[in-house]
Amino acid sequence: MSLAARARMRPVLYPAAILVAFVLNLLVETGVSPYAAGRPLIVALLVGILVVWLAAFATADRDRAGLLGVILMVMVLAAGNRTSVVLSLLAFSLIAVQPLLRRRSGPSAARARDWLPIATRLLTIGSVILLVAVGIKAVQLGRVETFAQDLVAESPLRPRPVAASAGSTGAPNMFFILLDGYPRADKLRSEFGIDNSGFITDLRARDFVVAEHSRSNQVKTELTLAQMFNYRSATEITRANRPRRVDINDGAFFADLHRLGYRTVAVSPAFETVALRRADVFLDTGQLNEFEWAVAGMTGLSVFADAVVPDLGADAHRARILDALEAAERQAQSLGAGREFIFVHVVAPHAPQVFAADGHPNDLPGFNLPYSDPGEIARFGFEEYVRRLQGQLQFLNDRTIRLVDSVVAADPRAVVVVFSDHGSGAPSRESGEIYPYADLHTANLLAVRSPGKAGIIDDRSTLANLLPRLLRKYMDTGPSEVPETIYVWADKPNDSFVFLRPD
Ligand SMILES: [Zn+2]
Repeated sequence: MSLAARARMRPVLYPAAILVAFVLNLLVETGVSPYAAGRPLIVALLVGILVVWLAAFATADRDRAGLLGVILMVMVLAAGNRTSVVLSLLAFSLIAVQPLLRRRSGPSAARARDWLPIATRLLTIGSVILLVAVGIKAVQLGRVETFAQDLVAESPLRPRPVAASAGSTGAPNMFFILLDGYPRADKLRSEFGIDNSGFITDLRARDFVVAEHSRSNQVKTELTLAQMFNYRSATEITRANRPRRVDINDGAFFADLHRLGYRTVAVSPAFETVALRRADVFLDTGQLNEFEWAVAGMTGLSVFADAVVPDLGADAHRARILDALEAAERQAQSLGAGREFIFVHVVAPHAPQVFAADGHPNDLPGFNLPYSDPGEIARFGFEEYVRRLQGQLQFLNDRTIRLVDSVVAADPRAVVVVFSDHGSGAPSRESGEIYPYADLHTANLLAVRSPGKAGIIDDRSTLANLLPRLLRKYMDTGPSEVPETIYVWADKPNDSFVFLRPD
């Protein structure tokens, strides 16, 4: 092959660069961990290279292959937009059939071919500019430092501490089960007519103290966790410059745990804002994470899934919940005498309700799942929503009790906390209540099993002093109490307020 011929067949890289820039831009905008974007970046790179390579085979022309590749990508990325798809199809056909025209009409078409190398050069420069622009945006948003810290702190290769032996000095294993959005029992009865007393009785039978009038201090998962792990009052947790997930992961509580010789283990909820990726052991069960869903939703995958595999979304959500429970079960069974803090975040009973009471799948077609209670009520009507909620609660109750039994069987001295980060997000039916339905939304689940130690929680506890009290009671060291303020974030700072609880 001559040098010129080899140059002609050199692969065109700008389609891959554009795809990678697309994913990187989303990473910078959302501020999730770079590790959450690892798989999409690899896929973008491979797809960009593969598409051009295939097109080069078909056309025997690198410039044409690049153009075909980039047009194909536009079609996939804009699959939801009919005009873009039609325009891309037109352009695709024109470029694809041009070699045939050239063969027929000779010199005039040969001239037309001259613009192809220029197009390649321009698009290559354009793709480099795109990558640089994403880099500038990363600097402007202050992401560079955070991402660099993430790459080190969350590296799969980083050294991990070994849990210190508990000995006889206290420092028990601590097993936290976060059931996202689990409503308080009295609200389940008054708002939805659901009797959940069996679960509460089961917990009490296992030496749990259950706060019948507990409250979350926040109505958003990331605010609840940022507050808990930093021992702060609700009003102190304000919008920070850095991503909330960093506040959560670098919380003072984890520094205290490490100081006390604990090893931290976290089971991923797939929601990246609240994922404890900096835990000593971060267990990701492998399904698409929140970032990957967002990328997939922006591509033709959502359209394809709706047409061909309508249960893809619900199946993945179910698998995430089941695998989290399985991973937790394995952690429970292998609990040793060392000091471990295990945090299992189950994204249920939060909407969407995907399990029936017996664990069978609920019918829920569509790639875009209703991730909010109002969304689910709008889709199914209130009565069906309640039926689904009741089923999923029953399923979760059974699995939670089973998990608790495994923990206690492995280590009877373990502290076990079963709680929710906030209550139901459904519109309250109580008269006079308006969005964001603070009374219902902050009525959460809080149950604590604390062998040998009383007074960790009382009937009206919030989450604010749970961790400080556990540390002080068991380890004789820990931060002082913070005010148990309840702050209701209502999407905008001006609409948000401190909530005065009625009970
Ligand atoms: Zn939540």
